[in-house]
Amino acid sequence: MNKHIREMVPYSSARDEFSGHADIYLDANESWLGGNDGINRYPDPLCRKLRKEIEKTLGIPYQMTAVGNGSDEIIDMLIRIFCEPGKDSVMIERPTYGEYSVLASLNNVAVIDVPLQESLQLDKSGMLKAIAERKLKILFICSPNNPTGIVYSLDDIAELADCNEGITVVDEAYSDFSEDFRSAVSLIESNKRVVVMRTLSKAWGLAGARIGIMAADPEIIAVFNKAKAPYNVSRLGQDAAIGALVNIEAEKAVVDEIRRERKRLGAFLLLLPYIRWVIPSEANFILAGVDDPGRFCSYLASCGIVVRNRSSEPLLSGGVRITIGSEEENMKLEEALVGYSKMQEEGPVCR
Ligand code: PMP
Repeated sequence: MNKHIREMVPYSSARDEFSGHADIYLDANESWLGGNDGINRYPDPLCRKLRKEIEKTLGIPYQMTAVGNGSDEIIDMLIRIFCEPGKDSVMIERPTYGEYSVLASLNNVAVIDVPLQESLQLDKSGMLKAIAERKLKILFICSPNNPTGIVYSLDDIAELADCNEGITVVDEAYSDFSEDFRSAVSLIESNKRVVVMRTLSKAWGLAGARIGIMAADPEIIAVFNKAKAPYNVSRLGQDAAIGALVNIEAEKAVVDEIRRERKRLGAFLLLLPYIRWVIPSEANFILAGVDDPGRFCSYLASCGIVVRNRSSEPLLSGGVRITIGSEEENMKLEEALVGYSKMQEEGPVCR
């Protein structure tokens, strides 16, 4: 941990200093304007009610969780807490989620990039070598990975984390969509340097509320809470998150539908003449290789459907990432995909 973080005196907010119940709150310079739902009041800095719900629904012990303004905030805070700008480095395995390297750069922290193997699996021996040669402060591993949808072996992750003297952050943003998923949360007990991230932005439908969850040893949780902005997660966000977690049946239904649609769309894509490959995904998206990704994406956009061109990423030549939509959305997508086949044979058909 950075020395200045260890030594800093954290901000003490009004809600840190008094967290009981009072009839009249005149301690935080709030307003009485705003109404009965409490939106005129600052939120709980430690998201206590939400974390109790996380413990109940996700099974992660209360003292091992903290909540961020999206997992993006957690990535940024971990880099700021553990890496010294201009001196330390983090490791990523490209292609992966772009924010690890962007936030490292923002904090003037070097990024060591160990590319994935051709199979899009981790290059474990390359990573172990880089870990041994370059003392890392943070190793980021995204599983299931974005944009491939591939889940890495938990045993490999455990071995890498054990060899890494720094922090290993396992980003499980898409884990809800994976069947028989083995979470790295189970590693924390024997390796206190493991940090796991989850988010309510994907399976729980709360991307706009910005709720990221960090699971870690209580010592790391305490440092995060010390360093973060006092009211980093809004009251609206905390309430929405509690509402979503309580309604686990709705989440399960959506995840079931996404898994079904993922299978169906994957099989459908493979029948199309211009699709070169489809990666079996355990996330809520499919990565497929097409002959001319730029033209393909423009065509779909002209049909009112936006997908993500990932073809400039290493190892992903021709790669386009398609989020699994609802059954109805996917039917429209499939219609457009057939239209694209026809257009290649006959000229434009989609207005
Ligand atoms: N991790 C991964 C792998 C992601 O793909 C994303 C969002 N695309 C995030 C984290 C960010 O999640 P959040 O909305 O919680 O900031």
